Amino acid sequence: MIARWLVVSMLLGTPMLAVAQTAPRPDADPRIEKIVASVSQERLQSLLTKLVSFGTRNTLSDQDSSTKGIGAARNWILEEMRRSSEKLKVNFDTHIILPQGRITRQVDLRNVVAILPGKSPRRIYVSGHYDSVNIGGQNVSNSAAPGAAAAGGDRQTRPDFDANVEANGANDDGSGTVLTMELARAFAESGVQFDATLVFICWAGEEQGLVGSNVHAADLAANKVPVEAVFNNDIVGNSLGGNGFRDAESVRVYAIGPEDSPARSLARYIKKTASVYVPSHRIRLMAREDRFGRGSDQSSLTQNGFPAIVFRESNENFERQHGANDKIDGVDFGYLAQNARVNAAGVASLALAPPAPKVTNDRGGNLLSRDPSGYDAALRWSASPGAVAYRIYWRDTWNNDWEFSQTIGNVTQFILRNVSIDDFAFGVSAIGADGQESLVSSYVSPVRAGTTIKRAQ
Ligand SMILES: [Zn+2]
Repeated sequence: MIARWLVVSMLLGTPMLAVAQTAPRPDADPRIEKIVASVSQERLQSLLTKLVSFGTRNTLSDQDSSTKGIGAARNWILEEMRRSSEKLKVNFDTHIILPQGRITRQVDLRNVVAILPGKSPRRIYVSGHYDSVNIGGQNVSNSAAPGAAAAGGDRQTRPDFDANVEANGANDDGSGTVLTMELARAFAESGVQFDATLVFICWAGEEQGLVGSNVHAADLAANKVPVEAVFNNDIVGNSLGGNGFRDAESVRVYAIGPEDSPARSLARYIKKTASVYVPSHRIRLMAREDRFGRGSDQSSLTQNGFPAIVFRESNENFERQHGANDKIDGVDFGYLAQNARVNAAGVASLALAPPAPKVTNDRGGNLLSRDPSGYDAALRWSASPGAVAYRIYWRDTWNNDWEFSQTIGNVTQFILRNVSIDDFAFGVSAIGADGQESLVSSYVSPVRAGTTIKRAQ
């Protein structure tokens, strides 16, 4: 097939006036509205009530009791997800972890994974960590990094540390765990056939250094599993900050840079879909990997090359983390449900859209050039299966979000006349037959590698 070149003529000197337009707000899809509406605040509450009844979910706690400790908790999570829908394939992702760091003895570590198969193998993840920890409260540490070494060393590595002491972890991260479980049910029971395969995963070992997500992500990378997006949720259920400020109307989304990273593209996408399906909830995009000096499982995914972000409640109460007082009375279920709906809107939109176009060649080279005049922007990309149209985006390089967009036909090349590829950033998305749009793939100029110049001694 001969590719057709589409050309936008632009006036020299005033290039933006010719086609400037803001990115169109997508029409609401009734299927997605229904999924968002099906998120149940009551079920979130009943799930969390059960989850905290296990006392602690410390990764090194009792694995043999049927009522207390992480063994009982993970068995219940697995069975509850199986009960919630026959369409979910629910299993443990088990790893024997040797002693290292905060893992002070060999341990049987299990992530709980629920898969909703889609038409294609490309995957979208929703996650939270179900393990909990009690180090006596986050603020007992003199360190700026909660959970990190306190005066006298890391509490979790001390010989007298008791992994069976109560650690409800209602908000950290029972909130993200039950959000993940509830979305598994809502998506599986929606009756919608998604293009993407959805994976709902509850991580273990987060509090010992992202252990469960680390080994899972390493396996994904080794097996070249196509993971398109990871929606991680950690501490998403409290609306009353320790400073007394209440905010139940917004949520933070942290996305590692640089500015055209896949994580930033995912963050922009979440903001856009939330504005359509959960307009009362404000998305606060954060241009960093996570809160200052703190982290979570999304980093295991980004370190292995997958686009991943983390949701964080807007106003935290540090007095109610990593201690015995992270209890269920500190969780605002109306707020948690809103955060779950924001996740649902983004996941459903992505799962119904075609995959994002590929904007590099097989050798990783950029498909952006100055053709044909030497002063134009020529964008090329690989066709996305299922796409019926594409949308190109561009912006001033110093801006965070796309400023201009143009919806075009089912082509794989496009020229913007007299738009400098040196002065603007560019991206392209794919649009499916029912109007759903993919993530935007950005054209990124590789960072120059350093060289060592040979000099006379
Ligand atoms: Zn956490």
